[in-house]
Amino acid sequence: MSDTFRALVIEDQDGKQKATFKDLTVGDLPDNDVLVEVSYSTLNYKDGLAVSGKGIARRLPMVGGIDLAGTVLESASDEFKAGDKVLVNGFGLSELYWGGYSQKQRLKSDWLIKLPDAFTMREAMAIGTAGYTSMLCVMALERAGVTPDKGEVLVTGAAGGVGSVAISLLAKLGYTVIASSGRQETHDYLKKLGASEVISREETMGKGRPFDKERWAGAVDCVGSSILASVIAQINYGGAVAACGLAGGNDLPTSVLPFILRNVSLLGVDSVMAPKALREEAWSRLATDLDKSIFDDMTTLEPMSNLPALAEQILAGQVKGRVVIDVNA
Ligand code: NDP
Repeated sequence: MSDTFRALVIEDQDGKQKATFKDLTVGDLPDNDVLVEVSYSTLNYKDGLAVSGKGIARRLPMVGGIDLAGTVLESASDEFKAGDKVLVNGFGLSELYWGGYSQKQRLKSDWLIKLPDAFTMREAMAIGTAGYTSMLCVMALERAGVTPDKGEVLVTGAAGGVGSVAISLLAKLGYTVIASSGRQETHDYLKKLGASEVISREETMGKGRPFDKERWAGAVDCVGSSILASVIAQINYGGAVAACGLAGGNDLPTSVLPFILRNVSLLGVDSVMAPKALREEAWSRLATDLDKSIFDDMTTLEPMSNLPALAEQILAGQVKGRVVIDVNA
C-alpha cells in the first residue's frame, strides 16, 4: 500500500530483542514535531549492537538507526520547514527514541541540524555519528593543546568508522598520524587516508606496563580496555588521549602514574548528548577540515535489507571504514 513504509523494528521475542522489517504508517510514528522523509542512515558499532539484539534499545518496540539524513515533510517548529534537508546524530535514537532505519520518522526539532551546504545527504551519512565523533575527538585534543608540532598522534581501532575519519582529519590538519590496526589487509587503505605508518595491536601494547616509554603526543582511542591503558602509559609529558570507544572492552586496567607524573589528560568524548552548539561546531569543522576525496575509498553503500548481516560484521570488527544505509533500497 502506498501509505505504508518500511522500518527495522526491534521487539521482544521470547525474552530476547529481535529486529524485523515491518510496514508502518505515519500514524504509527511517535508524536514529535517534525516529520522527515529519510533518505540515508548509517551503520555504527552501536547500531550493530542494537540490530543484533544486544540490549541497546531501552524501550520496545524500537526503530533502530542512530543516524539519519532526510527531507522535512511537515514541521510544527519555526526552526524547520517542509523541504529543508536535515540530519540527526544520536540523541538517544535507537535507545530511547525511534531512529533512522525507517523511510519516514517523526523527530524532535531540538535533535535536528540543517544539512551543511558542503555535504550531500549521502556524504553526511558517510560521516555519520562515527565521523562526527572523530571531529569531537580532534577538537578535544586541540583544546588540550595537542598541536601538530608536539609529535606523533596515534589512532587505535584505525580501520573502523571513527578511526578512518580521525586519520583523515588529523592528516589534513598537519598531524603526523600513526594508525593502530589489528588487520594487516587494511594497511594500504590506512596510508591512503593519511597515516604515515601502521602498527599492529601487539605493537601498540608496548611492554603492556601501566607506565611505559613516552611515544605519542596524543591519541584518539576507539578501543578501550588494555589497548587504552597501554596508550595512556605511552603518552608524552603533557599530552592527551581522546577516549570515545569500547570495541575492545569497557574496562580500563591502568594506574594513576601517567596522570600524576606526566601530566597526561584523559579526555572523555560523548557524541550522543553533546549540546547542539558543539554539534554545529563539529559539523562546520568537518565541512572545512575533511578531505572529501576519501569518501570513495572509505564508504560502502548498502540497502537497508542487508542490516542484519552487516550488524554481525561490525561487531566482529570486519567492517572497513563507513557504511551508508540506503533506507529506500
Ligand atoms: P567500528 O567497528 O567501525 O570500528 C572499531 C574498530 O576497533 C574495528 O574496526 C577494529 O579496528 C577495532 N577493534 C574491533 N574489535 C576489537 C578488539 N576486540 N580489540 C581491539 N580492537 C578492536 O566501530 P566505530 O568506528 O563505529 O566505533 C568505534 C568505537 O567508538 C565503538 O566502541 C563505538 O561504540 C564507539 N563510539 C562512541 C561514540 C561516543 O559518542 N563516545 C560515538 C561513536 C562510536 P582494526 O581492525 O583497525 O584494529
